[in-house]
Amino acid sequence: MEQPRFYQLPELEYDYKDLAPAMSEEQLRLHHTKHHQAYINGANAILEKLDKARKESAEVDQKAVLKELSFHEGGFVLHNLFWENLGPHGKAGGKPSGVLLEEINREFGSFERFKAEFSKAANSVEGSGWAALTRCRGTGRLLLMQIEKHNVNVFPHYRLLMVLDVWEHAYYLDYKNDRAKYVEGFWSIVNWDVVNKRLEALLK
Ligand code: MN
Repeated sequence: MEQPRFYQLPELEYDYKDLAPAMSEEQLRLHHTKHHQAYINGANAILEKLDKARKESAEVDQKAVLKELSFHEGGFVLHNLFWENLGPHGKAGGKPSGVLLEEINREFGSFERFKAEFSKAANSVEGSGWAALTRCRGTGRLLLMQIEKHNVNVFPHYRLLMVLDVWEHAYYLDYKNDRAKYVEGFWSIVNWDVVNKRLEALLK
């Protein structure tokens, strides 16, 4: 099948209202249809610009263009992962199981310790960015990561298992400036099955 060659907004696996009260319908709808869409528009505009410049043999400011492209592509990819690793309030949340829980216990000592470290990482991201649980291909270790803005260029080595958006646009409608309360709510809507499947896929 011919691929579209441009980025497209993915549909969510749940309704906008399903993540409340951890994330309100209004907050999620705005985040998905406006913010996520804006990164898609930004990345597609650059791809079109590159297509045009190449067709016309025109000069391109590679440094500026590639930086902007990585920002928008990072925003696109991270939001896709984020929506996927969330699930309906009441169904998601709780504790992970399977190989994910085993690996968390091996690396962090306990789920409680992991949760505390991840929350601290999310709460201390400077300005706009993300907290992520990753797995290092080199050591096999689970590692926490803070991602500045949306730019991360280490995907191939550090595979992203779970991400949390801590940009203000992710929580300001619901929590104003109280990021810690938003991060606390996140734990009630984590889709552990998805996170576990991502890890299992890497271990195959
Ligand atoms: Mn966002």
